Amino acid sequence: MNKKQKLSFKPDGMTCSEQFNDINVECKSGYKLRPKIIKPQHVSIIGGGIASACAAYALTKQGIKVTLYCKDNALAQGASSNAIGALYPLLHQRADDISLFYQQAFWRAKALYTEISQQGFDFPHSWCGLIEVAYNESLVKRQKTFNELATWPTELIHKVGAEQASQIANVTLRNGGLFMPNAGWIAPQELVKQMVSAAKTTGKLTVNTNILVNKIEQLQPIDNQTQKDKAEKEPTHWRLITNNGNFDASVLVVCGGAEVIDLDFIKQLPFTSVQGQITSMKTNSVINPLSTVICHKGYLTPSSSTAQHPGIHCIGATFKKNNTSTIATKEDDEYNLKMLSSCLPDLAKDINWTEQDISASKARLRCMTPDHIPMVGAMPDVQKHIETYPHLAKDKNWKYNQAAPAVKNLYVMMGFGARGLCSAPLAADILTADLCGTPYPVSNEMLFNLSPNRFVIRDIIRRKV
Ligand SMILES: Cc1cc2nc3c(=O)[nH]c(=O)nc-3n(C[C@H](O)[C@H](O)[C@H](O)COP(=O)(O)OP(=O)(O)OC[C@H]3O[C@@H](n4cnc5c(N)ncnc54)[C@H](O)[C@@H]3O)c2cc1C
Repeated sequence: MNKKQKLSFKPDGMTCSEQFNDINVECKSGYKLRPKIIKPQHVSIIGGGIASACAAYALTKQGIKVTLYCKDNALAQGASSNAIGALYPLLHQRADDISLFYQQAFWRAKALYTEISQQGFDFPHSWCGLIEVAYNESLVKRQKTFNELATWPTELIHKVGAEQASQIANVTLRNGGLFMPNAGWIAPQELVKQMVSAAKTTGKLTVNTNILVNKIEQLQPIDNQTQKDKAEKEPTHWRLITNNGNFDASVLVVCGGAEVIDLDFIKQLPFTSVQGQITSMKTNSVINPLSTVICHKGYLTPSSSTAQHPGIHCIGATFKKNNTSTIATKEDDEYNLKMLSSCLPDLAKDINWTEQDISASKARLRCMTPDHIPMVGAMPDVQKHIETYPHLAKDKNWKYNQAAPAVKNLYVMMGFGARGLCSAPLAADILTADLCGTPYPVSNEMLFNLSPNRFVIRDIIRRKV
């Protein structure tokens, strides 16, 4: 079939153009097509962090009523509760899939956060740039190649020597590095709250806190309802079993981050949890002038002047795979301080922080995916994938017309790892396109790179199912 030709095969009795809006994908990769639904009037979201805030904002802007269920007594108490987070893309030397996604996501995130702020929903942030310091020989070599290849525009990233880096940072740095002039820092908790407030001005957002969703169940349509009942009741497809009663949902989006990876259906996807701790340090005369974010093995942010966190710098963060505790420890604060001393010894010596300078610590869980790209889209029906595409196990290029089987009206927007501030806004646009039929903001290839069913297909090809 000609690439440009409109797809016309009929998966499960539906034409492709009815069920999917992507007409530029070759039929051989039917599993790359994303299910489309009739734009819903109402969407329920499980979450409360940056992913939910972006989804709620984007969907309410499209006129959809949204109900958010959050287990905590306030929003942004999970990974999005850090005092300060850095906004910057993950870029490799070459324009690989991951870098292409993050560079696009970065510009989208910056535009969205600026839009929120310009509407008067302000939150502490600064687009002060970010330097990835070349603190060892292998990084110096890597950054030299990075610069020579010149894959990315200089407004995104460029090399700076030690002197220029010190001028930008307004503190003395022994090493140069890669500078991202458009990057910066944000107070994620305030950002989430402000974005939700902005969404609420549409009159279409309801936030229910203290609702812990323990279970989700798919409801079968009831055939023996009277016509009157049918007309009065919005068709419900999901039941949320919570600590505070049951709630029904016609379309459900799960944005619950690392704490929800064992929920029904979601547990079939390869999410993992990685714990991290950041430490807030009191500023002093040496480090107060710092005017850009510094990344080494960890990061060091400029002094914040937020009401909640006045005069603090965040350092961190730890990465612990087999730890689901959200209780901060003294050992991890020490680790963060040691990491700073080993990567930036001169600066750390001048700052001279001790344990007495710790103002707060926080441990939270990152929700990771195996390829470090988030998942956004319909929840795949895993069993039906296995039944539909068996030949991929023998030939990964086997042509399949059949579209990807999905669990009806269940969507996932998770796996933001260590870059949720950068990637959540673009993911929310993709979710919106799935639900509202608006144009997809990314290429077909990138769409599949973000699709939750990519891992099911990968496992069939690798004969892992
Ligand atoms: C130490 C650390 C440092 C980080 N630094 C950065 C950084 O500098 N820059 C950056 O971009 N990213 C950073 N991240 C990553 C970033 O914080 C995450 O990617 C992002 O916050 C994920 O947002 P989320 O909305 O997916 O999840 P979360 O913020 O965790 O939100 C999940 C929400 O779901 C709710 N929930 C969970 N389960 C249920 C349930 N069963 N029922 C109801 N509600 C439920 C929770 O209450 C919570 O509100 C860092 C993460 C950590 C841990």
